[in-house]
Amino acid sequence: MKYSPLHNFISGELVPETVSVMEVISPSDGTVLSTVPLSNYEAVNKAVKAAEKAFPVWSAIPVKERAQIFYKYKTLLEKNIDNLSFLVHEENGKTLSEARAEIEKSIEVTEYACAMPQIISGEVLEVSRGVECRLEHFPLGVVASITPFNFPNMVPNWTIPNALVLGNTMLLKPSEQVPLSANRIADLLKEAGLPDGVFNVVHGAREVVEAICDHPGIKAVSFVGSTHVAKIVYKRATSNLKRALTLGGAKNHLFVLPDANVQMTASNVAASMSGCAGQRCMAVSAMVAVGPVDNIINQLVVEAKKIIPGQNLGAVISRSAQERIEKYITEAVNEGAVLLLDGRNCKVIGKENGFYVGPTILDHVKPEMKIAKEEVFGPVLAIIRSDNLENALKIQQSSPYGNAASVFTQSGGIAKYVMENASAGMIGVNIGVPVPREPFSFGGWNESKFGVCDITGKSSIEFWTKLKKTTVKWNPESKTNWMS
Ligand code: NAD
Repeated sequence: MKYSPLHNFISGELVPETVSVMEVISPSDGTVLSTVPLSNYEAVNKAVKAAEKAFPVWSAIPVKERAQIFYKYKTLLEKNIDNLSFLVHEENGKTLSEARAEIEKSIEVTEYACAMPQIISGEVLEVSRGVECRLEHFPLGVVASITPFNFPNMVPNWTIPNALVLGNTMLLKPSEQVPLSANRIADLLKEAGLPDGVFNVVHGAREVVEAICDHPGIKAVSFVGSTHVAKIVYKRATSNLKRALTLGGAKNHLFVLPDANVQMTASNVAASMSGCAGQRCMAVSAMVAVGPVDNIINQLVVEAKKIIPGQNLGAVISRSAQERIEKYITEAVNEGAVLLLDGRNCKVIGKENGFYVGPTILDHVKPEMKIAKEEVFGPVLAIIRSDNLENALKIQQSSPYGNAASVFTQSGGIAKYVMENASAGMIGVNIGVPVPREPFSFGGWNESKFGVCDITGKSSIEFWTKLKKTTVKWNPESKTNWMS
């Protein structure tokens, strides 16, 4: 085992629990990296008590001072980018350069949080002679963040800097499949000067998530993961009268028109479907070929063949994920899809125990096939043929998801039509992975997100705070009116 067993991080210290543990497996080669505790309600309760104790002091610190700690944290992320990237690469299986890009995004969201004092400066207005109204953001208290396996560093950082700079204290429940980065984040926050108890990590699985949803001390729950669990968490947290924002899975469509730039489209689609081994909630999963675009599809296959497992394509998260993805491909072929590139039974020399799936392209997929409708979460592209844009859009609009949709065209009119009509929260024009960058917020529509607000950017401020509206009469006038 490369790393010592992991422990929960509560009130600035590692706290061993007497609970069962799970092995953390390296997807790249199948070796055991560490073990992670599968904690219970008791551990959640300890973390909530620590966060409750820290809250009055932390929230009373002026926001400008809280932000100073995150300037230091940002510097530490930059200083440690090599070792943080390597850890993400090890526990998640993505390539080192993809892991580095993830830390760069963590740095960008932290930068946004550092600007929070400027962003949230309140509003004041003299609403009547001598009478003033003011609006201020107040933190909620103890909040929780539950995160998935695909971005072990970035997704926790979508929530930590913003929620904490805004004055909340937090309990993070990272994915049990990639728990190592969470403890490194805790170390860096401590090194940056964050007071003990402001940030806590409780490791585990379903039991911890249920305890978070049920614990009366937790005021708000953010979740990022599959739609199935996003629904469970949203219902359970809100039924306990908590604020909840739960981001779910995706099935992202990308429309390719005959006037699209061939090379740019082919390389962007190949990168979108295979980046992070297709395990991005923003990855293209269904390409709708609108009209005659065979030249682009041929070039796409050429580009996809340059993506080599174990070199510029990382592993998928687990053996069961590998089997699930391969099953989707086999079923699609059995249903009549045409295999242009087959990534099944992939072996990487020297990493025979790793979980690899090569880039896979299936053509002539029908909209009613399983592979056209469900989230595969692997480096697999389903090409659906459509004669016209209206039908292409109908396919996208009928998906229960709504994270992202993109169009590749040189026509401004077509681009605008897709921007207006695609049923998704994040739209790309000539961009394969249309992730908004700060200060624009991240969040999908439909069953890709439950709750109001987004998880990053300005919209997240509303989620992590409550507004206080104060009305003051500064003059001594004794006359009463409707405001008295
Ligand atoms: P997951 O839903 O299996 O797990 C997410 C979290 O929920 C983990 O911390 C896990 O421990 C916990 N969990 C799992 N099953 C649970 C249950 N039955 N009850 C309570 N908690 C449970 O997701 P994953 O496999 O880790 O991540 C992949 C999914 O996340 C994909 O569907 C992907 O699209 C989605 N995702 C979405 C976004 C987005 O922004 N919409 C971003 C990243 C990932």
